[in-house]
Amino acid sequence: MNPFIQLGIRHDIVNAISELGFENPTPIQEQSIPVLLTGSNDFVGLAQTGTGKTAAFGLPLLELLDFEEKHPQALILCPTRELCLQITSDIKKYAKNMPNVHVVAVYGGASISDQLREIRRGVQIVVATPGRMLDIINRKAIDFTQVGFVVLDEADEMLNMGFQEDIDSILSTTPEDKKTWLFSATMPSEVRRIAKKYMTDPYELTMGTKNTGNENIEHEYYIIRARDKYAAFKRIVDFNPEIFGIVFCRTKIETQDIAEALIKDGYNADSLHGDLSQQQRDKVMKRYRERSLQLLIATDVAARGIDVNDVTHVINYSLPDEIENYTHRSGRTARAGKTGISISIINGKELGKIRQIEKTLGKRFVKAEIPTGFDVVEKQLFALVHKVHNVEVNEQQIEQYIPRIMDEFNGMTKEDIIKRFASLEFNRFLDYYKNAPDLNAPVDESRRSDSTGERFARTGMKSEFTRLFINLGSVDGFSRGDLLGYICNTSKISGRTVGKIDVKGVYSFFEVPNDEVEKVQSGFKGADFQGREVRIEISGEGTSESRGGSSSSNYRRPEGGGGERREGGFRREGGNREGGARERTGTAGSAGANTGFRDFSGKRREDRGERRRRF
Ligand code: AMP
Repeated sequence: MNPFIQLGIRHDIVNAISELGFENPTPIQEQSIPVLLTGSNDFVGLAQTGTGKTAAFGLPLLELLDFEEKHPQALILCPTRELCLQITSDIKKYAKNMPNVHVVAVYGGASISDQLREIRRGVQIVVATPGRMLDIINRKAIDFTQVGFVVLDEADEMLNMGFQEDIDSILSTTPEDKKTWLFSATMPSEVRRIAKKYMTDPYELTMGTKNTGNENIEHEYYIIRARDKYAAFKRIVDFNPEIFGIVFCRTKIETQDIAEALIKDGYNADSLHGDLSQQQRDKVMKRYRERSLQLLIATDVAARGIDVNDVTHVINYSLPDEIENYTHRSGRTARAGKTGISISIINGKELGKIRQIEKTLGKRFVKAEIPTGFDVVEKQLFALVHKVHNVEVNEQQIEQYIPRIMDEFNGMTKEDIIKRFASLEFNRFLDYYKNAPDLNAPVDESRRSDSTGERFARTGMKSEFTRLFINLGSVDGFSRGDLLGYICNTSKISGRTVGKIDVKGVYSFFEVPNDEVEKVQSGFKGADFQGREVRIEISGEGTSESRGGSSSSNYRRPEGGGGERREGGFRREGGNREGGARERTGTAGSAGANTGFRDFSGKRREDRGERRRRF
């Protein structure tokens, strides 16, 4: 038997949720649905976002209400417009096979007259943000005297945003004997207080330990020097070619700066912050959902309630001021049973904050190392190879060009052709990253609480050898022995003096004594391999991966300006490149220009910020 039927949900609802892919109830659904279906309890559920709590209260509501009647019977209050729309749309989907269910979304920043019209037509479920709800109540445009159930979703967020008084006023228009169901990701004392105030002897359900983050989230932190932050961030992004992430900044200005720099560097990114108009926000969110944006750069307030599945990474570009916000940020990934990574990029002084968050979440964070330039290059190469391997070929369209293409490659071996395709984009990475510096900041030993110590040893090492880069590797047919022979022949140094040789794909490293470096360099002057110039460089020589990339001595921006470096290599595929670039720039520009709009929720949040727990 379908497990939702076993929980007491009727067939027509089960059929609808089966279509949504709900095969088994999530833990919170399993435990709360039987309790809520009785309709006789107040209820407190401590649950993170993404645990399936919308269905946990939505399905019981659909069972309990009388849809022959057309007056409001359930009121769901939630902190943001995003969440409001999400809950409304979810409930409508669950009720797809139920003919008379009417759900209205009531939220600010959209036409109130449309919402009033819907209410007048008759609704049983009202999903609302507190500000607009109160507005409609004050206009005497809704009657809550027959409301049997009130849901307070993300109660902690509503309190954080300063909605306490609005909630009081709204609830005072509902009957005394209604049942109140409260859901919250955290249980600070303010939430405890409202639970006490509005409920009698509630049934309490805690999913996992209090304040524990989602188990499917891995937490990592990177320690860098403040001046390397942007370069380190980019490196992390480049090391994760399939990233679909939300990047959190502390201020609106920071989100704009980062988004603009990323756009300039050719990433599909945009910012989301409180000064955008609702229309601009919707546009950004639409592009993010559709994945034409790979990185969403957001403030805490703007990102609240964002429910996008498949977010792979949350990146704390700046740590939040309050610990609770870390939970909310990281909760944007690992939704619906998936896994996700929450990354914090910090300087050495912020290690204490990480320890505090670890303590609060009861979870150990992993100290990670910023990947080297070559790690990135290798990762990108194989991502490219993987992409080529999996690309869908449009047989019909390409058919006509095949004879000419075959002509072009006539006489080349399969291996040659593969090498050329791979090198096409790969060379750009190689150029950009070949001398990329180590961006990990040295950490004060006394502060270290992990035992890796590896990088520390490396930076502290005083070597008599110099590591050299050569632009030849296994794809050119070199093994370690071959390369040793080639180096010795070309530069006339003894094989015995050569240290470690590390043969990679299209490049390699080898170590020579410091006093042999010049000899090797001059030996290779003018050398070519099969018609290709052979380059020898000292590995780790100061490349600046400076902000925006434009001042990097090694990075040659392809003609045509910003946005093109990543073409094929870094950029996500799809869409008209030029159009995409124009749109990206346009959005960022308009975001910057429109600073007059006041985000009511953001304002409230800022007003009350001091009350929150700070580091
Ligand atoms: P929520 O916590 O309600 O925001 O839900 C998070 C995500 O999980 C949403 O995308 C839901 O569609 C999905 N979801 C909820 N319940 C289930 C379930 N039983 N099986 C699979 N997915 C679910």
